[in-house]
Amino acid sequence: MSLVLYDTMAREKRPFVPANPERVTMYVCGPTVYNYSHIGNARPVVVFDVLFRLLRRRYGEGAVIYAANVTDVDDKINAKAQAEGVPISTITDRYLDIYNADMASLGALRPTLQPRVTETMDAIIAMIGRLIANSAAYAAEGHVLFDTQAFSDYGKLSGRSMDDMIAGARVDVAPYKRHPADFVLWKPSKPGEPQWDSPWGPGRPGWHIECSAMIDEALGLPIDIHGGGHDLIFPHHENEIAQGVCAGHDHGGEYARYWLHNGFLNFGDEKMSKSLGNVVLVHELIEKWPGEAIRWALLVGHYRAPLEWNGELIDQARKSLDRLYRSLQDAGRFLEGSDAAPDPETVEALLRTAGFWDALDDDLNTPRALSELFTLSNGLRAAMLAGQHGSAANHRAALLEAGRFLGFLLHDPEAWFQGGADEGFKARVDALIAERIAARAAKNWADADRIRDELTALNVEVMDSATGATWRLKEQA
Ligand SMILES: [Zn+2]
Repeated sequence: MSLVLYDTMAREKRPFVPANPERVTMYVCGPTVYNYSHIGNARPVVVFDVLFRLLRRRYGEGAVIYAANVTDVDDKINAKAQAEGVPISTITDRYLDIYNADMASLGALRPTLQPRVTETMDAIIAMIGRLIANSAAYAAEGHVLFDTQAFSDYGKLSGRSMDDMIAGARVDVAPYKRHPADFVLWKPSKPGEPQWDSPWGPGRPGWHIECSAMIDEALGLPIDIHGGGHDLIFPHHENEIAQGVCAGHDHGGEYARYWLHNGFLNFGDEKMSKSLGNVVLVHELIEKWPGEAIRWALLVGHYRAPLEWNGELIDQARKSLDRLYRSLQDAGRFLEGSDAAPDPETVEALLRTAGFWDALDDDLNTPRALSELFTLSNGLRAAMLAGQHGSAANHRAALLEAGRFLGFLLHDPEAWFQGGADEGFKARVDALIAERIAARAAKNWADADRIRDELTALNVEVMDSATGATWRLKEQA
């Protein structure tokens, strides 16, 4: 089956055909690095990580170039740097490191390229220069503005008419704008803020131009896939197209061949946004939950649909993963000492029959792909029940291949069932188990029983063996 993707521009699903299968390019708008990321920012990262994995599988790991920008010039960065009395790079380096670590803990592969605005300044200034030369931009009062009247397709991606966009523009339009919808490419910095030299005076770029300049410089136009959150369609992506097309270059007026947008994460009834108080930080979530559970929660709904985010969603995700890990744990015991080895062709056939790849090829239908993991897990259980070692080995391999492809089931099952407990809890359980071993060694059965009851109350199941004792948390009903 071919990969089919919903293209926002075409407003329909289209078979994905890259311009060059040996160099497939994808760009996704990335973070502004001045703070911890909230979970809403993680959705596109995880969604496009699945697409990145799918493209790598299809075209080869070295054939896919995935770029995600890092906005390291921004008012909020300036404010934070001033408040701490440090250069902006201290802030941006710190929060980029945290961002990359947080996203890695959600199982997201690092993009091939992470261009930064401060390192792309020459390309940005060159692109603005080309826009002026092509009569698509004008300088006025230290600013450079994009002339929206110069691009007849302006509004095509979002489906907005010029009248809509004027109505949507702020009421007090800056006097140097020729048209209310015109947007800033370059502006003067405020006193004390970082600035860069340009032919239009010292200053800094507007936000939209960075993505177009990075795409042009790092990937080359047109790119195959441009992704981002639904909220970026207008004005950000509309402006990107206008800039990229009008800056010329030999790309036939094409900017991105497929446009993909993920839906919002809803928190209660309000749209997740940094301006709201109800921020849920990835950094905090990963202290409470395994990264795989958060990742699962983000993929349990289709990426284009809004996702209702709440504690129950992660709790359910955790339980789903528990069930799969329990199958793997049982299979490990069932297959211990057996020489049954998986047969690659049978494993492939199992994945095909389950429809796992078909689900992902159908516009990244992750809800269906996740449910197929349970089809494979049920097959594994059936094989164990029937005492079939070969079949169990094949089902286990298929489950692991599919799960790990999506960034799940990467832990040893024993470790998984202990990993959910925090360090203090683990230390307490380990101490109780040591006490119990000592009590039994001293034939103090009353104490040993009491400690066992205490462990049971903590929902801990102890498994004694010749070499000592291991433990796991009992599955929650
Ligand atoms: Zn962007």
